[in-house]
Amino acid sequence: MSEPPFADLYRELILDHYRRPRNRGPLPSPTVQAEGVNPVCGDEIHLDLAVEDGTIRDVGFWGQGCSISQSSASMLTERLKGRPLEEAEELAGKVRSMLVEGAPPDRSLGDLEALEGVAKLPVRVKCALLAWNVLLEALRQAKAAAQEEHHG
Ligand code: ZN
Repeated sequence: MSEPPFADLYRELILDHYRRPRNRGPLPSPTVQAEGVNPVCGDEIHLDLAVEDGTIRDVGFWGQGCSISQSSASMLTERLKGRPLEEAEELAGKVRSMLVEGAPPDRSLGDLEALEGVAKLPVRVKCALLAWNVLLEALRQAKAAAQEEHHG
């Protein structure tokens, strides 16, 4: 028995998240909400974050679309709980440069490296990126809200 090639492992991982999405569904009391669409493929992602003291306490997503867009969102939510906003932003930046600029995956990305494997085609990059763009929008909102608290 030989080991399955990485490409197959990655495909499995994506399908697993697609079939059993983690953190699916809206949060009972989100502090920020963001959404986005990828019209090229018909993908749609909604993201809820519960942010407290600059840390993401809870996260939920829902949406529809292809397996890459939905599993990318599922994988994203798995990495956010308990993370400071800055770390979430840094993670989104690393995923973006991996997908958009073709930067070699950072070791800290772990399973997220799978997205690089399936996003070789430019059309697919948009699918994989959608959730991360929605996250960046949510983080912008969270930061703006925190600023207001400090000054208001
Ligand atoms: Zn798609």
